[in-house]
Amino acid sequence: MNNYDLELNRILQKIRENNYNSVLVQFPEGMLDKPLSKVKEFLSKENIEVFVVGDPSYGVCDLAVDLAKKLRCDLLIHFGHSDFGFSHQISLAKTESVDIILVPAYYNPPQEPDLNLILNEIKKYGWKTIGLAATVQHMRTLEKLEQDLNENTFKSIRYDSGQVIGCNVTTLQKGSKECDGFVSLHAGFFHTHGILLNTKNPLIQYNPYTTEITIYSEEDRKKAIQQRFTVLSSAKKAIKWGILGSPKLGQLNQNFISRAHLIFTENNIDALTVIAENINPHMVANFSEIDAWVVTACPRIAIDDKINYTKPIITFKEFLYLFDYLNWEDLLEHGFF
Ligand code: SF4
Repeated sequence: MNNYDLELNRILQKIRENNYNSVLVQFPEGMLDKPLSKVKEFLSKENIEVFVVGDPSYGVCDLAVDLAKKLRCDLLIHFGHSDFGFSHQISLAKTESVDIILVPAYYNPPQEPDLNLILNEIKKYGWKTIGLAATVQHMRTLEKLEQDLNENTFKSIRYDSGQVIGCNVTTLQKGSKECDGFVSLHAGFFHTHGILLNTKNPLIQYNPYTTEITIYSEEDRKKAIQQRFTVLSSAKKAIKWGILGSPKLGQLNQNFISRAHLIFTENNIDALTVIAENINPHMVANFSEIDAWVVTACPRIAIDDKINYTKPIITFKEFLYLFDYLNWEDLLEHGFF
């Protein structure tokens, strides 16, 4: 955890240049130990008041601007994410009273990653054109891999920046026709699951923390799709529906809420719209009369936590499919969220 570039000098420059007196610091859950201590220790030399957001932050969609305003902080420092996918919402949230710094926290591997491991896999599968992606922490390693591939006469494609987040893998979707396969640098199954549900090409996942390589094929994708099909089949039987929304900066999709409401009205279905800062199985279980839910906030709520919800919970795109505004092929072609 000591290997993240926390860009402390950039932060210091900002604070000193503007004579800031108080800051609010926001970290993703996994960085609340050593990186936070390092930042706290560094800022304590500056004689400024430091507040830390205690609620979990899963993305920049959850930027704590309102809290910073309430606390009258001069600066909000958000670690672990870039503005990817949410630049519009962030620019709207910016005010003169609270300045914002986003620090992606790029990962510096303790030793040079052996990217030959990935090259060997690519050769094994005979891929010629490779779509590249990474979560923001690993963008520097991705640049290195891109260089290595091009030096080895492969064609690598990185649409836009090549960054993926839990709800946005468009960089890979754009390459689906052109690429033989994808390579993504990220840890865990969360982003893999998003890629499997939204793209069709085979995937090599390289975990930059462990250097482990995992291959995902068409069979894995079918398994992920089958799970969604099962949830959708049970949602189809629902009589009473709920629409879930969140007021979080990048998750308040009022258009989705209004459209879902309209579709329910057209189908003579009385739906309840529930808005909650943190949508979770415990909160949702309180609405025991609702048979199924459509989530208009973070789509991953419907995908990753489904096992903990007692009622079917689906994404907005899946909802459009269920009410005949999209067909099954649309989901297979363009993804489930
Ligand atoms: S909406 Fe969900 S998946 Fe997208 S960035 Fe926010 S927390 Fe991550």
